[in-house]
Amino acid sequence: MFSFISRHAIFPLHERLIGRATSRYVRELERSQWESPFDLRRLQAVKLNELLRHARRNVPFYRERLADLDLDAAQDDPTELLRTIPLLDKRQIRMALGEMTWPGVPGGLVPHNTGGSTGEPLRFYFGRRRQAYDQAARIRTHRWFGVDIGDRELYLWGSPIELGRAGLLKRLRDVLFNQRLLDAFRMSEHRMDAYLDAWDRFRPVCLFGYPSSIALFCRHARARGRKLDCSAMRAVFVTGEVCYPHDRETISSYFGVPVADCYGSREAGFIAHECPQGRMHLTAENVIVEILRDGRSVPSGETGEIVVTHLDAYAMPFIRYRTGDVGRLLSGRCSCGRGLAMMDVVSGRSTDFLYTPDGQIKHALSIIYPLREMEGVAQFRVTQHEDFSVTVDIVAEDCGISAESVRACIRPVLGEKIDVRVNRVDRIEQTASGKFRYVVSHAVPSPRKREEFACAGA
Ligand SMILES: [Zn+2]
Repeated sequence: MFSFISRHAIFPLHERLIGRATSRYVRELERSQWESPFDLRRLQAVKLNELLRHARRNVPFYRERLADLDLDAAQDDPTELLRTIPLLDKRQIRMALGEMTWPGVPGGLVPHNTGGSTGEPLRFYFGRRRQAYDQAARIRTHRWFGVDIGDRELYLWGSPIELGRAGLLKRLRDVLFNQRLLDAFRMSEHRMDAYLDAWDRFRPVCLFGYPSSIALFCRHARARGRKLDCSAMRAVFVTGEVCYPHDRETISSYFGVPVADCYGSREAGFIAHECPQGRMHLTAENVIVEILRDGRSVPSGETGEIVVTHLDAYAMPFIRYRTGDVGRLLSGRCSCGRGLAMMDVVSGRSTDFLYTPDGQIKHALSIIYPLREMEGVAQFRVTQHEDFSVTVDIVAEDCGISAESVRACIRPVLGEKIDVRVNRVDRIEQTASGKFRYVVSHAVPSPRKREEFACAGA
């Protein structure tokens, strides 16, 4: 009953109050997903043309960058023109942020901070249109699994907002939308015991979170011999990092429901999501994905860097944005019947847990969030050694950053007992695999815990 009220009254009212046309976009996306790949490409072409015209007219950064594009000649399909536009990366955004927004955007600019686990902090802006489309895309994909707005949704997620007014508002919002948050950043055995009880009181319809944290939670439940009440469960949605096959197996065998992977990021958008057939479909109405190697597009099936153009990011356009992730586009049609193109993410964000000597297990993002909030930090890498001590390598744009300020920033996460060394460096190299890993831990939990937690897939 409450989910009905949340879905049909609270949610539409909330979206209308903050000026987002989410419900209309959901209806649009529900319809367009069944269109043919040809028609979806035409829709992309029309939206791309509008976006490029808008960016050139209203956003100073693009005025020059797009000055020579002959958009009239490419009226029908500007996709080829898109490939001539220079790529956009985090560094450029940090340097030119003031020039990259549309000051007159309806509904105003909504600031945001991100960086995910890539170790490169980023400030950027949302507009209402883009927020609403990303939200609508999420709602559509959850419906693929029979999960709708207002259904009881449990988050195993890290939230930097904990205390104060913002935290209270968030909690009220969670209750109104039938959502609950369990903190994935503080998962000691003791706390996970409390999570097990919270689960059975809430009886979620779906679980959403980092695959590594959810798999850890499953292994804990198993070690405790707990069979959670999963009678209402329909799906587990994982995102934010690579979902390894052993974690997927742990999760699906424990809950007995499909595990669906979502690929995207705050800044790049809701890029792709797995369907019930296990294929990852692009949100083709909202994003154009290119796969590039050595600066050139590669054909379907070949891997390269994932580069994204968000077709509804008008407040701050993301045109040919480099995600740093590696993937490939796939040809053919999915048996689910949707016309949305498909992709694979071959490697994405990959991080480790951090451990404390007293048995706390910290998700990598719990240390990434405060570091990326620090003014003047361009890049960082956190390495935990076998003795639990931590080294933070920092590339700083601001000479005001001191070892002491970095320590003070991460002390609340790691506690007093862990020794923290800070190195100022000029650059941070990729690992041999070519993948950036910004939190690496060589520490292991105590032997008893290792047995319980480290037997992935068991
Ligand atoms: Zn499908």
